[in-house]
Amino acid sequence: MDFLSTRNGPPVRLEQAIMSGTAPDGGLYVPASLPHFTPADFAGLEDFADVAARLLQPFFDGSSLAGEVGDICRDALTFPVPLRAVETGAEPLSVLEMFHGPTAAFKDVGARFLAATMARIIAHGEFAQPPVTILVATSGDTGGAVAAAFHHRPGLRVVGLFPEGRVSPRQQHQLTCWGDNVVSLAVRGEFDDCQRLVKAAFADEQLNAEHSLCSANSINVGRLLPQAAYYACASLGYWRETGQATSFIVPTGNLGNGFACVWARRMGMPIDRIVFATNANMTITDFLSSGDWVPRPSIATLASAMDVGDPSNMERLRALVGADAESVAREIDAYAVDDDTIRATIRDEFDRHGIAWCPHTATGLHVYRELDAAARQGHHWAVVATAHAAKFDTIVEPLLGTTVEPPPELAELLGWESHYETIDAELPDLAARLQD
Ligand SMILES: *Cc1c(COP(=O)(O)O)cnc(C)c1O
Repeated sequence: MDFLSTRNGPPVRLEQAIMSGTAPDGGLYVPASLPHFTPADFAGLEDFADVAARLLQPFFDGSSLAGEVGDICRDALTFPVPLRAVETGAEPLSVLEMFHGPTAAFKDVGARFLAATMARIIAHGEFAQPPVTILVATSGDTGGAVAAAFHHRPGLRVVGLFPEGRVSPRQQHQLTCWGDNVVSLAVRGEFDDCQRLVKAAFADEQLNAEHSLCSANSINVGRLLPQAAYYACASLGYWRETGQATSFIVPTGNLGNGFACVWARRMGMPIDRIVFATNANMTITDFLSSGDWVPRPSIATLASAMDVGDPSNMERLRALVGADAESVAREIDAYAVDDDTIRATIRDEFDRHGIAWCPHTATGLHVYRELDAAARQGHHWAVVATAHAAKFDTIVEPLLGTTVEPPPELAELLGWESHYETIDAELPDLAARLQD
């Protein structure tokens, strides 16, 4: 299948869409069309990796990877994304747990799929000369997921930049505990300095030529595709058990995870309503109520991985469903949740079921509790749990007055030694570190 820019550029092959990240015209790559399935097309397939391979095959057809989709999915999607029943009866509520990967957040899915795909594209020797350097600036979850996903991948190395002293201790550990082909650099400055440095490196022809620089940012279509697969897998599983569709509430920042859910529904999966939960960054909810798309600087909230004032993937959503607010509102609903409500929800849900949820997941649970009875009665809702609460221990533990045990994958990684070097926010310093 060809991939097109959301603006007007010429079609490109899957390999190019994945290796270049964004289109030269500044748009985002989307598939030229969406395949359509029925649940019967997945008969006999239960594992996440197998469902994903069936769902994603059409996107790879015609590319050099067409015969490797099953291998890529089995290589990348090695952990479950279970749909766990939290409440049963007339108002069934489940949580889709996306935190069983190596860094305990849903970004592991996209990052691992991207790494498995890029590794094979590079092995074919067509698009970039190895070793390829993935350069990433991070303020939080992305860097750890990318580092984990590319660790030990032949022909690839990761150079991750984070602002010195400005990421949480656990986040910093997830960035710096890898070694081998993962280099972590603390930058004397802010997150914006890290981003500026990465941009300057990508703009420098000599550095690009020498190191085959590549990005792994969240707007890469290679990260979105596998995210549609967990919605497919979860909704199919419930459909098989009950004959009922599932409605999803997705905590949303840059809209990647939420947009992937819209894709899954458009591909014929048994998905009913889709509702986005945002934090106090209200660009999406204001758009739905006023009709005007007004990107703005982000504000800091407790659900920090959703602190986005200009959600990039809205461009994909509007290209798919229509650019005006009415068209978008026919597809999805969105509600904003402030920090006080996030705190209250973390406490209330712990009192109710004894489960600690992360601040992002709490926005989704609050939106569920606010639905009117008619929307809940007889309908199966699933709130997406985007990260494990133990990743946000400094927020969650004081609220609950108890410790939250990290899941085994995260606990293991927290035991590894961390290594990093500190550099000034200057291109020559970064260039020198790229050299060795
Ligand atoms: C990245 C992230 C989000 C937001 O996902 P988007 O795809 O940007 O909407 C939500 N929760 C957690 C824990 C994240 O890491």
